[in-house]
Parts: sequence; C-alpha cells; structure tokens
Amino acid sequence: MFVVAMDTRSRINPHLGGATPMSPESAMASDVFDQFLSAGTFKATLSTYRYLCEVLRIKPTNYSTFYPKLKAKLRSWKAASLWSKLDKRASHKCYNRGKACPNTRVLIIGAGPCGLRTAIEAQLLGAKVVVVEKRDRFSRNNVLHLWPIVIHDLRNLGAKKLFGKFCAGSIDHISERQLQLILLKVALLLGVEVHENVTFKSLIEPPENLSSELGGGLKCYLLTTLFHNMSLMCLLVLMENVTL
Ligand SMILES: Cc1cc2nc3c(=O)[nH]c(=O)nc-3n(C[C@H](O)[C@H](O)[C@H](O)COP(=O)(O)OP(=O)(O)OC[C@H]3O[C@@H](n4cnc5c(N)ncnc54)[C@H](O)[C@@H]3O)c2cc1C
Repeated sequence: MFVVAMDTRSRINPHLGGATPMSPESAMASDVFDQFLSAGTFKATLSTYRYLCEVLRIKPTNYSTFYPKLKAKLRSWKAASLWSKLDKRASHKCYNRGKACPNTRVLIIGAGPCGLRTAIEAQLLGAKVVVVEKRDRFSRNNVLHLWPIVIHDLRNLGAKKLFGKFCAGSIDHISERQLQLILLKVALLLGVEVHENVTFKSLIEPPENLSSELGGGLKCYLLTTLFHNMSLMCLLVLMENVTL
C-alpha cells in the first residue's frame, strides 16, 4: 500500500534552476519514485514500481527500450545521481550499449541475490529478462559478509543511492533482505520484469516436429508455473530467436 500526497497545481522544479514549472504528472512521478527508492519491503518495492510505470505510461521491457524512457521522465537530483551511476555501468563496452544479446529472452527462477544479480547482468546485455519468485517477501535477516570486489560492484550499481547505510565506514556486511532490496530496485530500474508468488514447476521441451514446423531455428518451450494468488497452473511460452 502506498500513498501519494499530491498538490495538483504545477510545482516549481528546484532542480532545474528554480524557474521551470513541473507538470502534475512529473510531480506525481517524482513523489512515487521517492517512495520506490525508500520502499523497505519486496511488496512495497513492487507496488510503488508498478504505480510509477502506470503514471509514466511505460512497461518493463529490454534495457535499451525501457531505461532511456524512464530516465527521460525522472529528472530530480536523486534520480539524476542514480542515472549517472547506472549510465556509467551500462556504458561498459562488453554490453555493446545494451545490444550484446538482442532477441534473447531470459527467465530467472528465484529473486535471491544470485538470481537478481544475474537478471541485472542479462538485462544490461540487452536480453528481455523475467524473474519469477515463489515468495512475496524478503524475510531473511542473516548477515552476509561482502568481499571488496562485491562492494565495488554494488557501489557501481548505485547501492549507496538506494541504501544510504550501504558499507558506511569500515562496514563490510549487509542483511540478505537489504541486499535483495537493492538488487531488486536496480533490476526494476533497468526494465527487468519481476513476478512474485510464482513458482517454477517444470520445463517441457518442444517436440522435434514443433521446432522444425516453426522453422528458422525457433524453439518453443512450455514452462509450467504455479501462480499462487490465482491457484492455478499456467503455461508460459518461451521462444528463442524471436524479435521482441
Ligand atoms: C539460515 C541461513 C543463514 C545464513 N547465514 C549466512 C551468513 O551469515 N552469511 C552468509 O554469507 N551466508 C549465509 N547464508 C547463505 C546465504 O543465504 C546464501 O548464500 C544466499 O542466500 C544464496 O543466494 P541465492 O540467490 O543463490 O539463493 P537464495 O537466496 O536461496 O534465493 C533463491 C530464491 O529462489 C526462490 N525460489 C526457490 N525455488 C523457486 C521456484 N521453484 N520458483 C520460484 N522461486 C523459487 C526462493 O524463494 C528464493 O527467494 C545463510 C543461509 C541460511 C538459510
């Protein structure tokens, strides 16, 4: 549940020299974005993010389509300082400006630290990434020791902007819950699609004749998952080599 306190009159944007009026939509988006940044639970992070996408009329998709739109619509100083971190990271030549893995879909099962970090990497490479997580909360408070290389990596992804106490001073540890929240927020900002309450059940490979019928190296997998909130079995279709 989140609440947006909104004054519908145009506001002055203090970050643009104090003279440029902010549209009501931008002001609302900026408020929702602040709530997203400070969200302290899995649920609140997802709900504020979904609302933000609704307000901005954008949908999570691959990095090069989603991220520039989000960035263009959120220009507060808080947002700008995060964008500068993410831009720097994404400009690494190995990502080829988000086009190293075009026409690729990646499904990540589990929003643990490893799943979320992998999702971020695949998204930066240009894949369309979906994460399914069987739970709807991050509840593990066990404290993880972070190696220097991990601290460096997380700082470069804007961890400090998302959690002010991140590795302050000589601290080199973090609760698992907080680490998941940081990684989740980065993944969402890059356009990763995350579904809570979805349990992966099995993968059914396509019959040989189906692959050959579709042609062009296309492979169609059936993925069975359990959507808890609907209590039914659903089938998702994953395709390889398909233009998104
Ligand atoms: C009690 C406990 C204490 C620990 N203490 C420490 C510690 O002090 N220091 C330390 O460094 N490490 C500790 N660890 C280890 C640390 O938690 C793991 O190294 C870390 O969580 C591994 O991350 P992961 O992303 O690989 O997996 P996980 O964190 O386990 O994430 C897997 C995710 O996948 C989801 N999932 C699983 N199956 C499915 C499915 N079929 N469909 C959809 N989603 C699914 C799960 O809900 C989970 O969110 C501890 C672990 C436990 C259990």
